[in-house]
Amino acid sequence: MTHQVQKTKPLWAERFCKTKTVDLMKLIVKKLRLVHYRESAIMLVIKQSTQMLACLFITLISTNYCFANEPNKRQETRYNINRGISLYKEGRINEALPYLEDVINSGIVHPNAHYVLGEIYYARNELKKAIDNWKIAQHKAPKDAILTKITKAKKELKLDEKLSDKISCNFILKHDHDDAYSSELVLHSFVNVYNELAYDFGWYNNCEFTVILYSNEDFVNILDAPPWAAAIYDGKIRIPLQYTSLNIDELEEIIRHELIHAILHRIAGNNVPAWLHEGIAQYKDGADNTEVRNTLRDAVVNNLMIPINHLKSGFVNFKDNTKVRIAYAESLGFVEYLVSNYGFYTILDILNNFNNYSNLDELFTSVYSLNLNQLENSWIATMTPGGINRLPENR
Ligand SMILES: [Zn+2]
Repeated sequence: MTHQVQKTKPLWAERFCKTKTVDLMKLIVKKLRLVHYRESAIMLVIKQSTQMLACLFITLISTNYCFANEPNKRQETRYNINRGISLYKEGRINEALPYLEDVINSGIVHPNAHYVLGEIYYARNELKKAIDNWKIAQHKAPKDAILTKITKAKKELKLDEKLSDKISCNFILKHDHDDAYSSELVLHSFVNVYNELAYDFGWYNNCEFTVILYSNEDFVNILDAPPWAAAIYDGKIRIPLQYTSLNIDELEEIIRHELIHAILHRIAGNNVPAWLHEGIAQYKDGADNTEVRNTLRDAVVNNLMIPINHLKSGFVNFKDNTKVRIAYAESLGFVEYLVSNYGFYTILDILNNFNNYSNLDELFTSVYSLNLNQLENSWIATMTPGGINRLPENR
């Protein structure tokens, strides 16, 4: 017999083994689960933290973007308003328009932007849009001047609906239906005169001019024109009908005079002083200036000269007709003095650099090496008795 029993596992051992193994296994499994749960929990926390961080990051980015975007938007709006107004002041109305339209189309109400948009639409003969924008500007920042513009534009709109249009080259001519012949003549003259002036001023930009022919009655009632005005340029060229019945030379003088104003406006913008506008227009319009020279002579003799820096605004504001005539005479006399002593090209220099200087003195000093006051004194000095005869006769 063999020790078979010794070879057999004892029962306690088997039981122990079974129990302990199972328990051990359970323990291990439990531990493993715990570890797993712990790891899972850690992973979950990490995962959730990562998600939270990501969310936080995205939120921060978004918030930062929003915070950053808001000033950018404001900056862009401010830039568009400033750029639009600045281009408008330089007379570049078509370039100014999209900047200001962009501001208004984004829902921003800005009195200055609306006011200048009104001015631009008015110059483009888009009267309804001009009135709408001025009304908003007037509502936000009331001014008598804007109200006057709205009243005038409403009258014009009423008349405009009755007028016919003729278009040729750079010109849109508005006229009464019954005035087809005269309007054709006027339009033809405008095209001819424009070609001459474009050469004289070295200005060949593709630009549109609006010309409106009025009855004498409408010219006075709608435009509130002074009785001495032969025609008006205020962004558009306005001619009363009586002048279309003049002979062709007289008609062309008026057309040339007003078209020079329009071209100066396009070259140098809105801030050209009235004396320079009127001086150049008279110097180049081809009219006989004998009477103007006599007025200047009388003003010097009678000590009625008006300082040039008092002639910056339009002469329409002078209630006294004598003052108006002296203002025109001085404008012509001073421009003739500048041309005679320095050449017409210096006038072109002034116009072409008009917006490159912050004031007139800097501009004139840059061209003549003398400021405006020094130039004016030199001019006055030539107008001593006998001195006035030295003013040039030829233009
Ligand atoms: Zn004029």
